[in-house]
Amino acid sequence: GKAARPCSLGGGSVSPLPPQGSPDPPAGGAGRAREEKPSSFLGTKWKDTAEIVIIGGGCIGVSLAYHLAKAGMKDVILLEKSELTAGSTWHAAGLTTYFHPGINLKKIHYYSIKLYEKLEEETGQAVGFHQPGSIRIASTPTRVDEFKYQMTRAGWHPAEQYLIGPERIQELFPILNMEKVLAGLYNPGDGHIDPYSLTMALAAGARKYGALLNYPVQVTNLSPRSDGTWEVETPHGIIRTNRIVNTAGFWAREIGTMIGLHHPLIPVHHQYVVTSTIPEVKALKTELPVLRDLEGSYYLRQERDGLLFGPYESQEKMKLQESWVTNGVPPGFGKELFESDLDRIMDHIEAAMAMVPVLKQADIINTVAGPITYSPDILPMVGPHQGVRNYWVAIGFGYGIIHAGGVGKYLSDWILGGEPPFDLIELDPNRYGKWSTTQYTATKARESYGFNNIVGYPKEERFAGRPTERVSGLYKVLKSKCSMGFHAGWEQPHWFYKSGDEIGYKPSFRRTNWFEPVGREYKQVMEKVGVIDLTPFGKFIVKGNDSVKLLDHLFANVIPKVGATNISHMLTPRGQVYAELTVSHLSPGEFLLVTGSGSELHDLRWIEEEALKGGYNVEIKNITDEMGVLGIAGPFARKVLQKLTIEDLSDSAFKFLQSRYIKLSDIAATAIRISYSGELGWELYHRKEDSAALYNVIMEAGQEEGIDDFGTYALNALRLEKAFRAWGAEMNCDTNPLEAGLDYFIKLNKPADFIGKQALKQIKEKGLKRRLVYLTLETANIDPEGNESVWHNGRVVGNTTSGNYSYSTQQSLAFAYVPTELSKVGQKLEVELLGQNYSATIVEEPLVLTEQTRTRLQKKGGSAKV
Ligand SMILES: Cc1cc2nc3c(=O)[nH]c(=O)nc-3n(C[C@H](O)[C@H](O)[C@H](O)COP(=O)(O)OP(=O)(O)OC[C@H]3O[C@@H](n4cnc5c(N)ncnc54)[C@H](O)[C@@H]3O)c2cc1C
Repeated sequence: GKAARPCSLGGGSVSPLPPQGSPDPPAGGAGRAREEKPSSFLGTKWKDTAEIVIIGGGCIGVSLAYHLAKAGMKDVILLEKSELTAGSTWHAAGLTTYFHPGINLKKIHYYSIKLYEKLEEETGQAVGFHQPGSIRIASTPTRVDEFKYQMTRAGWHPAEQYLIGPERIQELFPILNMEKVLAGLYNPGDGHIDPYSLTMALAAGARKYGALLNYPVQVTNLSPRSDGTWEVETPHGIIRTNRIVNTAGFWAREIGTMIGLHHPLIPVHHQYVVTSTIPEVKALKTELPVLRDLEGSYYLRQERDGLLFGPYESQEKMKLQESWVTNGVPPGFGKELFESDLDRIMDHIEAAMAMVPVLKQADIINTVAGPITYSPDILPMVGPHQGVRNYWVAIGFGYGIIHAGGVGKYLSDWILGGEPPFDLIELDPNRYGKWSTTQYTATKARESYGFNNIVGYPKEERFAGRPTERVSGLYKVLKSKCSMGFHAGWEQPHWFYKSGDEIGYKPSFRRTNWFEPVGREYKQVMEKVGVIDLTPFGKFIVKGNDSVKLLDHLFANVIPKVGATNISHMLTPRGQVYAELTVSHLSPGEFLLVTGSGSELHDLRWIEEEALKGGYNVEIKNITDEMGVLGIAGPFARKVLQKLTIEDLSDSAFKFLQSRYIKLSDIAATAIRISYSGELGWELYHRKEDSAALYNVIMEAGQEEGIDDFGTYALNALRLEKAFRAWGAEMNCDTNPLEAGLDYFIKLNKPADFIGKQALKQIKEKGLKRRLVYLTLETANIDPEGNESVWHNGRVVGNTTSGNYSYSTQQSLAFAYVPTELSKVGQKLEVELLGQNYSATIVEEPLVLTEQTRTRLQKKGGSAKV
């Protein structure tokens, strides 16, 4: 029976669990003594004005205070309602690792570990940092592929990572049952830290550099003032500040609610257990590396002479604390723990006993069950929040101990420097929106927790919580006909099914079921005409007296004339690419701005902030949810659309990059002659209610021409052959537009002093250290997708940014950044894919000319390569 399950690992005696609400730290932390007596703020300094108020004294808030003060910011105040670490932090297992599958997050992990290594020396506070390394275990061939995939993604980053075989694993972890072990991913330098002492060391540093850490002081309300500053209410008085940062852990929702925001966060129950002394562990000469058995879904590390073991249950078994979302965190809850439930983790305990047999003889001496705050995708939300001035967040940390150092530094650099120091779009709080409801958050948190250790494939899709309420007008029409991708709440077709196809989502590290169908759609657009649902684009209207002035300040390109469209980039003050938008001048002073689905609120926040800062008289409206977008592309696109409108669509009457209002069979649309496919095409912006009707009339009109659907996978193949860059891949705030080869769009000699102009001039003067190149390579059954290591002469010299199969030239192709001296056409390089280096050659761009260029050359009588 359920209740009869033993509480000790191998049937030994049952140790009493710490009583609920016990203030004692678990032995798991690192067994430190907690002699801390919270000094009342009254004993320290109290100030009622601040440059910044940080709300919450967990590892995240304290790290931010430390970094800001260290960088020289004056008047940094942190308010903590009880005592430092009294949320999730104090009872964390403290695991630290260089590994993260996400590209940009590797930098956060790296910085944290390097910081933690020196913290004791800097602050005089010991942090209990152990660095025995860590091994992720592969016990299936797919997992070995995943490790190879992760190796190429790590090769161009500084942290050490090795793919090791069973022999080396056994040497590093002698008490492992090697029966099922195929390989391991080994990160020297990984380990664990005492989260309480870490936070205390950061606090000591923060104080040393002048920050005020005031506790116990609870923030009870927040009031924005018209000049963008804030009033922070506390029982001890009001603090006026220029900026607030919410670092309130599992109370972060409550802070958000004070100002009308609903942060998509939910606490989950996470448990780990600590064993008594195990003789075989005690006998070891060196500390065991941290073990992550991915199939068993748990981590395991040495805790003194015993082991500490923490599982991630399946989405069905795991436990959410939903009542805290609906009713708030109970007032008394602080350092308390949840009641533990070993029943829930029994499968994992059994898996661990099979892998590490000495566990069978061990007793559990401590169990910790605590709240971890989950966002829907388990990544934290870090940065300024769209829609509320000077309100920043660093919330939703599933792994706050390893993230604290890096995130504190990242935010501090951003706050002081006015722009993100490097790209971390995956942590942008603005990746969520109104569509991220409480229900969605709960469903997704379940999935994310349960999937903690599942195989991470390229082009991964996760299905819980879908569709959201944010669907395109075509969703019902298309949903059974295609494999959908998820973008910022939307469902968007990746590729369409035809009879004979193996349908559905079949992830793989190699080419998979969509490979042939995407080739078919590619051909459809190149030879006939295709239709694509582009509704997920972010869309804004900017108008008003100062709209031209504002856009001239924001964009590096010139402002298009009325009736025209161009591609424009917003640069950061350092001259990096913050965003790429399509700008259409609809009527004098009225603009339609279009961006990718993943950057909607990211871009909007920047535009709104600049408009407010500069006092521009403009109206900015986000029309993303009201407007549908259909793309039509291919040689017959004109012929098909012409059947539906009296407007002259001929090349001379409706030129490339022109936009105008037209009626298509009585449906009103703003048509822009542009297509990311590089083929003849239009994007049709219309009321979302009209999407299905518009789609139907176009499909009907195109019968004769053999019109058909295409999805974003084919679009990506088409744009890569044209050598079109993609924001988020070839360009982001880690790249400047010159090294990305975007010179054509950057008008350094336009009169307006646009953001980034001066910096870019300097970059140009100094010369480029690296460049984006265009590579072709011969592979078997696999294509690059971006973020792979690029090799030359036995060393990693760069990284790919995106890649695909070129259906017309029948080889793989990729964009990559490499040092300037290796960037000439004809240069031989290698691209690493699944553990193998494929020889690659830099070729001239593009592989396939765009339709406009072909037409132009044909008019001149030249030949054009297709
Ligand atoms: C059992 C367990 C094991 C874990 N193991 C690991 C691990 O191995 N590695 C890892 O990286 N992470 C681990 N974590 C996760 C990690 O603990 C958290 O991600 C991290 O502690 C979050 O820190 P934080 O600063 O965001 O929040 P918290 O530590 O929760 O701090 C928030 C603070 O805000 C204060 N506060 C709230 N409201 C107010 C208010 N109105 N006014 C003033 N102050 C306020 C609270 O009192 C609290 O001190 C684990 C978590 C648990 C529960």
